[in-house]
Amino acid sequence: MKTVLYVFIVFILLFSIVCSDSSKEKAVPQYKYIGSINSTKYHRPTCEWAKKIKPKNAIYFKDKKEAEQIGYVPCKVCKP
Ligand SMILES: [Zn+2]
Repeated sequence: MKTVLYVFIVFILLFSIVCSDSSKEKAVPQYKYIGSINSTKYHRPTCEWAKKIKPKNAIYFKDKKEAEQIGYVPCKVCKP
C-alpha cells in the first residue's frame, strides 16, 4: 500500500512539473514583431523603440505580412 502511495506522489510531482513547464511556454509571447496602436511602425522585439511601447498599446505580429496587411511599415532603426 505504501508503494502505491509513493508512486502516486511521484506521479503528481512529475505531472505538476510538466504542467508548470507548459504554462511557462505559454507565458512567452509567440511573436516576431511588435507595433504600437499609436503608430504605424513595427519593430523587432529587441528594438529600443519596441521597449518603449506600453503593453496596453502593444500589438503583436507573427510575421511581416501580418503587420503590412493592416498598414504597418518597418521601423527604420531596427529594420525588421
Ligand atoms: Zn524599431
